[in-house]
Amino acid sequence: MEEMVCIECPNGCVLTVENKDGEIIVGNYKCKKGITFAKTELLSPKRTISSIVRTVFPDIPVIPVRVSGDIPKDRIFDVIEEINQIRLDKRVGRGHIIIDNVLGLGVNIIATSSILINT
Ligand code: SF4
Repeated sequence: MEEMVCIECPNGCVLTVENKDGEIIVGNYKCKKGITFAKTELLSPKRTISSIVRTVFPDIPVIPVRVSGDIPKDRIFDVIEEINQIRLDKRVGRGHIIIDNVLGLGVNIIATSSILINT
């Protein structure tokens, strides 16, 4: 049996996870999200990420961005590398898609600030 901390909410339940004849048995959860979290974490762990994108504008050299949905944990550094390639040359606002379908993962990189258009 192994333990893992559920990161779905601040409760941080310490889940117990056991593989019984191919069936994943999850225990010590306070809600069903814990079961989904543990199974996903074992079979195909995913994460959301936030980062920054460089711009060509000296007044605002970077803006914050995030992925529009969870991505496989083992692709985080690939996605960050893609984000680091960008040098934004348009003044865009919050919600603007900076990279559409990044690396074919089915999620977008979106701006999370309108600082470029509000200055
Ligand atoms: S099992 Fe439910 S209550 Fe516990 S940390 Fe996960 S989401 Fe929160």
